[in-house]
Amino acid sequence: MTRDPTAFLREEVEALVAQALDWKIRVIRGPSAPRSLVDGREVVMLCSNNYLNLSNHPKLKRAAAQAARSHGAGSGSVRPIAGTMDLHEELERRIARFKGREASLFYMSGFAVNAGLIPQLAGEGDAIVTDELNHGSIIDGVRLTKAQRYIYRHNDVGDLERCLREADGHARRILVISDGVFSMDGDIAPVAEIAKVSEAYGAMVYIDDSHGEGVLGEGGRGVANHFHVEDKIHVEMGTFSKALGVVGGYAAGSEDLRRFALNKSRTWLLSGSHPPATVASCIAAIDVLETEPRWVRRLWRNTRYFKKRLISLGFDIGRSETPITPVMLGESAVAKRFGDRLFEEGVFALPIVFPMVARDKARIRNIVNAGLKREDLDVALAAYEKIGKELKVIP
Ligand SMILES: *Cc1c(COP(=O)(O)O)cnc(C)c1O
Repeated sequence: MTRDPTAFLREEVEALVAQALDWKIRVIRGPSAPRSLVDGREVVMLCSNNYLNLSNHPKLKRAAAQAARSHGAGSGSVRPIAGTMDLHEELERRIARFKGREASLFYMSGFAVNAGLIPQLAGEGDAIVTDELNHGSIIDGVRLTKAQRYIYRHNDVGDLERCLREADGHARRILVISDGVFSMDGDIAPVAEIAKVSEAYGAMVYIDDSHGEGVLGEGGRGVANHFHVEDKIHVEMGTFSKALGVVGGYAAGSEDLRRFALNKSRTWLLSGSHPPATVASCIAAIDVLETEPRWVRRLWRNTRYFKKRLISLGFDIGRSETPITPVMLGESAVAKRFGDRLFEEGVFALPIVFPMVARDKARIRNIVNAGLKREDLDVALAAYEKIGKELKVIP
């Protein structure tokens, strides 16, 4: 008998199911909003990345509708051939201006930036020095190069320097990469110190600001602005899929970086460009950040309130310093049960368990949103208190 060439599809998924590691996809009907209809239940949304609720901002929606009328539904090509419209270039100028950089390049996604640009910045004979908790798209970008890898302990600048010392001397060039805000714990990378020690070794610095954009810095300009070190970060990578409420990734920095990236990144060269509606919404998102600072302020007001109340209820929120607020629960089974119970009580927040985090570090991850009202946060906090007592997580 010949073997079934597709048998592994089911077997491997069933192995995940047996360990309860498979994804169960919840479906949102209507917009992703602070109160959303998820699997038929109205819930307080605490797990979208739509920090500022910009996906529902009238300016973004209007811009999308107008651009579809004026420019069509699709761009027709990849960027380098016939897929660069006036809107794409306008967006890149606006990103650069917003970030206080010379230039930027817009990609299909943040993932496409990391997977397409990192392997061009360092190759055979070079070194990449990377935080152990960096995002999976950085890990994949690093896997695509022959550069030697050095992994330093999370946010440990001393250990980063040890790697730089080891790489120094034999590497042609050195690239240091870190997330700006880490998505599982909500802690902030010591970007100023990373920049300083990297400078001493002549290393290039690449910061993934996906969770810092629209959250940190003046008016949401990001983590480099937060630490006032824009001039020391050579590549600021970011995304429109989180606080900016749309989709698409970018790299911002010098004009040389832009020209290099657009000539070399395969994910940029070989993938169709964004439709006009998406690009116009992204431009509108920057407009909103530049003219309506209240959204970032509301995000932080909600964040401070939610965290303070969780702590006073007796929960452990780990090392969070941003709207990403984990509630540490320890064992995976407790986190899963907690997540299910929250959903039943009308709160949508995601349990994060092994292998996404260490086995004893399971948690519920909450992402606070500027659009949540005080009543919404109180509904969530009441559910936390009730379930926390029920599962004996708090006294
Ligand atoms: C979400 C995320 C990405 C990917 O961004 P997309 O634009 O959604 O592809 C990359 N890096 C980090 C740290 C992220 O959180």
